[in-house]
Amino acid sequence: MPKLLRTISEVSDFTSLYHLVNRRIGLIPTMGALHEGHLELGRKARKECDCVIYSIFVNPIQFGKGEDLERYPRDMKGDMEKLDSVGADAVFAPETAIMYGKDHSTFVDTGRIGRILCGRTRKNHFRGVATVVLKLFNITGCDQAYFGKKDYQQFVILKKMVRELDLPHEIIGIDTIRDPDGLAMSSRNSYLSDSQRKSAVSIYRALSKAKGNLLKYKDKSDLIRDTRSVIEKEKSAEIEYLEIRNADDLSKIKSLKTGKKFVLMTAVKIGGTRLIDNIELN
Ligand code: AMP
Repeated sequence: MPKLLRTISEVSDFTSLYHLVNRRIGLIPTMGALHEGHLELGRKARKECDCVIYSIFVNPIQFGKGEDLERYPRDMKGDMEKLDSVGADAVFAPETAIMYGKDHSTFVDTGRIGRILCGRTRKNHFRGVATVVLKLFNITGCDQAYFGKKDYQQFVILKKMVRELDLPHEIIGIDTIRDPDGLAMSSRNSYLSDSQRKSAVSIYRALSKAKGNLLKYKDKSDLIRDTRSVIEKEKSAEIEYLEIRNADDLSKIKSLKTGKKFVLMTAVKIGGTRLIDNIELN
């Protein structure tokens, strides 16, 4: 079993020897309720690092009012067993009070890029993500950290943070892991009823259809309209946004023909459950 670390000094004690002899530490930040997507990050880290540390922390400062902080799924025992199977060395699972004192007031401001797309409805979400990730970088002193491109905006924002704050850590992204029917794996999929789960498959169906038909479109608004209509065939689906952005910096694109890498990104509510997904268009 991986070693369970509850405090910052336990993490320091655990990592000190690795630091002393210059061994590579890989970090995988998560909120737990782990699935294959999370485990795939660890398998990659296992190949590349001497020490693999997962963090499991449902980070309150990245949740807004009325979001699912209280009911977010938690399964520490199951998570530890899964992490044993990928050969993780340690799990840092702190209580909230360890991470944030009562008067905590220092945050990473992610700027405009944190206010577009998901940031439009989830105010302060990326501020909370960047703050906890920077803390986890400092606590573990990791050399590299692994993130899923399923959370594409988060991935781009964290890379920008590392670049702009001159952090020594390397951000490594992995492709989205999906269920056999295409639905992107997510801890929040457990909120879906059977019929909602079936409707949710329309998200990936729509994104892959858009990618397959990309060359047929001259105008990006036609592509967006047709993609929306695939999702909207499902009565329970409500699109929060569906946008094509520049894959490197998430800036808006004028046309589909610039030869750059694009990413088609969406957030869709199925019933009350908010799901995100994206597909890279080259
Ligand atoms: P979370 O526990 O949802 O905060 O996710 C922790 C990490 O796992 C993040 O870097 C996510 O992007 C990544 N992740 C979550 N779901 C997937 C997935 N289906 N495929 C790949 N990575 C994922």
